Amino acid sequence: MSINVEKIRNDFPILSQKIYGKPLIYFDNGATTQKPLCVLETEKRLYSEINANIHRGVHFLSQKSTELYEESRNFIKNWLNAKFSHEIIFTKGTTEGINLVAASFGEKFINEGDEILITEMEHHSNIVPWQILCERKKAILKVLPFDENGELCLEKLSELLNSKTRLVSFTQISNSLGTINPVKKIIQEIRKFSTEIVVLVDGAQAVSHFKIDVQELDCDFYVFSGHKIYAPTGIGVLYGKEKWLDAMPPYQGGGDMIKTVSFSKTVYADLPFKFEAGTPNFIGAITLKTSLNYLNDLGIENIASYENDLLKYSLSKLNLFSELRLIGNAKNRSSIISFILNKIHPYDTGMILDKMGIAVRTGTHCTEPVMQHFKITGTIRASLSFYNTESEVDVLISGIQKVIKMFSVND
Ligand code: PLP
Repeated sequence: MSINVEKIRNDFPILSQKIYGKPLIYFDNGATTQKPLCVLETEKRLYSEINANIHRGVHFLSQKSTELYEESRNFIKNWLNAKFSHEIIFTKGTTEGINLVAASFGEKFINEGDEILITEMEHHSNIVPWQILCERKKAILKVLPFDENGELCLEKLSELLNSKTRLVSFTQISNSLGTINPVKKIIQEIRKFSTEIVVLVDGAQAVSHFKIDVQELDCDFYVFSGHKIYAPTGIGVLYGKEKWLDAMPPYQGGGDMIKTVSFSKTVYADLPFKFEAGTPNFIGAITLKTSLNYLNDLGIENIASYENDLLKYSLSKLNLFSELRLIGNAKNRSSIISFILNKIHPYDTGMILDKMGIAVRTGTHCTEPVMQHFKITGTIRASLSFYNTESEVDVLISGIQKVIKMFSVND
């Protein structure tokens, strides 16, 4: 089966609207994805029919919502091929997942002089939590660079690993360069150097494109956000190997993460509840299952192949502009395209495209070090999804033509 894009577009009501009288062309999927009707309907049905706080009630609705919440956890366990469902922790997103590991794992296992390795292409959410931890623990943050094509300099990995390296955290797909990193190969190399080093993979941009198998990857932690995978905002997942999650102290204290509380002693709950203090976003967690089922029905391989064709089509057109420079030219890349136009500020381009109904993102994309690498202030980023079409790409191309013409007149 391949992607029937016209049929699929009917599943996304937001796509049929007009912006400034022009059909909306949504190319900002790297920032957040649109939601299919089944996801919208699940949310509505949950709030209209079963809304009740989980884990705390004997009444029918509470039991029902608890059951669906735990069913979703189990579904995600299978979806990621985790070993146990208690290795799946619901968070509010990728950022919270990384902060949880940095705070909790960091509290127990990072000591003065230890080293944490990240890469130069990380999103701020995979940089700043480690900087905070390093400051707190007097640990050292090291950075694996990337080259001019936006590919990690993997030949430098072995130079950066040493007996002090405690944790390596890196992204599977760069949100500003589109680079797909060879996660399995990197983890194998780290494991070859030492089996003691803990690895976290930021899957924020990857989960909607690939089938993820955390056991096959052999990562210790894997994080992603629901809103980037056609689910609601405010829900995300942290996968962690049982041995680490068990050994880590709680991240936050409160209801649901305890077995018993007294003023003299509090006993924490077992996994996964130890890391889910307070009322979680149970509606989001349950709805996440709906969005993953939607993607399963389309077929992740079909999605990846459609998006790859659209990427090739877009690049073949964009490469015709002599004024356009791609930022990120990795051999293995996803459907995220960053570019700049000679002497034209990305913000101006974004504003003009917006008036044509085209939503692209402009700026640093929360990856300031990537911009520093290329000595630029920002890029224009078009991130494509399976509901985008070649004719939408053609409109973007004519938009770019228009921008170039307007600014060359004013030159
Ligand atoms: N990591 C990557 C690679 C991202 O692209 C993003 C968001 O753009 C994040 C982390 C942060 O995700 P969130 O804001 O959903 O927590």
